Formats: sequence, structure tokens, C-alpha cells
Amino acid sequence: MSEPRTFVVGIVGGGQLARMMYAASVRLGITVRLLAEGPAVSAAQVCHDVVVGDYTDPATVREFAADCDVITFDHEHVPTSILRDLEAAGIQVRPGPAALIHAQDKAVMRERLSGAGVPCPAWRVVAHAADLQEFAAAQGGYPVVAKAARGGYDGKGVWKIDSDEDAEELFAGITDGVPVVAEEFVDFDRELSALVVRSPSGQAVAYPISESIQTHGICTETITPAPGLTADQAVDFQRLALGVAHDLGVVGMLAVELMQRKDGSVVVNELAMRPHNTGHWTLDGSHTSQFENHLRAVLDLPLGDPTTRAPWTVMANVLGGSVADLPSALLHCFARDRRLRVELYGKEVKPGRKVGHVNTFGDDLDEVRRRAHHAANYLMGIEDHD
Ligand code: ADP
Repeated sequence: MSEPRTFVVGIVGGGQLARMMYAASVRLGITVRLLAEGPAVSAAQVCHDVVVGDYTDPATVREFAADCDVITFDHEHVPTSILRDLEAAGIQVRPGPAALIHAQDKAVMRERLSGAGVPCPAWRVVAHAADLQEFAAAQGGYPVVAKAARGGYDGKGVWKIDSDEDAEELFAGITDGVPVVAEEFVDFDRELSALVVRSPSGQAVAYPISESIQTHGICTETITPAPGLTADQAVDFQRLALGVAHDLGVVGMLAVELMQRKDGSVVVNELAMRPHNTGHWTLDGSHTSQFENHLRAVLDLPLGDPTTRAPWTVMANVLGGSVADLPSALLHCFARDRRLRVELYGKEVKPGRKVGHVNTFGDDLDEVRRRAHHAANYLMGIEDHD
């Protein structure tokens, strides 16, 4: 008889996404090996096979990957050259660098999506203030949006440009030579998220479309399904995301962030190729969570059912506030709401930092939202007198 085989999935990055992937891996009986930024980061607290090291160092990543069946990610910051080297050495990287570059570099993403006819805002790579001013003039004037092509997250690296002076100031402050993408300012009504997952053999499934509510550039709430979408719109947006996953050869979760205008039309804001904050609702609101489906995809296992368990699921992020001892605050939350689901990430509470989330589900959207807000607010130290 052959030895029983354990799959080893190497995850680069030790944040809460890796922590929740780790939880999913426990159920599947597979081993997760973690390349963590430090010994106490969120996922390193729970995973027992941890290498602490620098993911920008080729030798560290190569050594880490050597005994893994497949490498996947908690974030998209691993340099492409390192991932290419891994592939050349015969290591499976999922998603691979050729796909991942579209989540790493906004200029590459815009070029590719526009070329494929996926709706995007008008855009142009701009090298100096005069370029940006010219772009704004071509749009019929300000405002326009400028984005660092690489390295931004949670709204950092995105600037609203209201005047020629703003354009000059922006370039005066940019010293690291990162390319800048100028975009038409989209006067959107709301933001939507289309999550899909695709396996190497080409199977793909689409989660229901979520509405994502952002506060100061950070996702604070999602509602699934997005209220007010027609069935045709929902299918169109799911198709759009499945098409992007197919065209780019994505393996694993793909989040397509959409901006929806008042007339119902959408443009793509950006892509992420990993479990995504707008998919945390799936832990409790869907038949298969995004974390499990991501693992299934990178291992080329059949994908699980992405559909909802309840008419409405709401996720509210818990951002660091005045409550330092989050586990103690659970007493109130759970005493009040027996169906509340809470996930705490084990992170030190710092102002505005994502330290956990809550999920609620049920039949009445207003009530489901109220419950989520009450619990998240309580965990943030905000009294809502509800
Ligand atoms: P990050 O990479 O930091 O998440 P995003 O590209 O998602 O940055 O942009 C952050 C936020 O800025 C978006 O959620 C959206 O609210 C707003 N935004 C981005 N692009 C545009 C645009 N072209 N027009 C108007 N608002 C935009």
C-alpha cells in the first residue's frame, strides 16, 4: 500500500486571509505552510508550520516553496520575477504570475481589460503633471482620479485630482518612480463585488453579486445579494467576472470590484486574486466559503456550491476602535444575538485597522443590517443605542 498523502499548500503572507484559509484547510485535512512577516501575525498565531521570512527575498521564497505542492497568496505583493523563477523550477504557483500581474499593476490591468472589451473608466498612464492636466482636459475637466499603478491598498495610492495645482502637487510628492494611472472620475451610485473562483482544469463558479459599502476607502459592509439588481444584471456581472477569470487564466478566487452608475451600467475598478474582504460573508452565508473554494481551486478539486443559505447576508467589518479586549466584548454580542457570527483575527487593536468582522443573515434586510451594525459597533466601542 502506498503511504497516505498529505497535500501541502504554501501560503505567502500571514494576514487574516491566510488565517481563514488555514481554518478551511483544517476541515479538508491538508497541511498549510505559511511564509509569515513575523512570528505573531494573524495566521502565524494559529498555523503550526510557519516560516518567518521576507517574501521579497528570492532565496527565502524558493526555500519555503521547495516542499510545497502548490503556492498561493494572502496578498499580491510578491515580486513577479520571484514567482517566475518558482514556476521555472517546476513549482506550482496559483494564481500564476502571468495572471497575478493584473492584480499587482493597475496599468497592466487596464491595458488588458480594455483590450478585451471589459468596461473600464477612460484611463491613461501619465508620466508628469502636464500629462495628467492634458488627460483632465480631454475628459472635459476636473475631477479626475490618479492611482499609483503598484503598491496601493485600502484607498492608499488613490487620489482625487481637482485642479492643475493638485496635479502638480501629486507629481511633486512622487519620488519613487511608480507609474501613475489617470482615470475618468466615475460618478458612481454604489460599488459592487463580483466574486468567482476558477480551477486549473477550467471549472469555475460565481458567487452572488454583493454590494460593498466603503468608508474612507475601506470596505465596512457588504450586502448579499446586492439589493435592487435585476436577475439579468446579476447574471451579466457574474459573466463579466467569469470571462475575466477565463481570459487571464486565474486560478483560485478572483474579486472583480465594480462601480455601478445610476443608469445601472458598471465599470471595473480593480481586480484581486485571492479571497477578498467582500467575500467574508461566504463563511456563514454561502454553502461553500471563499476560503474553502480557493483551496479547492488551487488543489484542482471540484468546486463547492457558491449559492446563499439565506435571503440576505450582511458582513460588517470590525475596525480597531476603543475596545482593546475584543474576546471579552463577545459576551454582550452573543447574549444579544444567538445567530450572530463573529470572526476575530487575533490582531492588536489599532485605530482603523481591520481586526475582525461579523456576519448576520435572515429574511428581513433591515433587521439583518441592524444586527450586524449593532455588533460591529459594539466591538468598535461605538454605542448605537439600538
Ligand atoms: P485600492 O487599490 O487602494 O483598494 P481602489 O482602486 O479600489 O484602491 O480605489 C479606492 C476607492 O476609490 C474605490 O473603492 C472607489 O470608491 C474610488 N475610486 C477608484 N477609482 C475611481 C474612479 N475612477 N472614479 C471614482 N472613484 C474611484
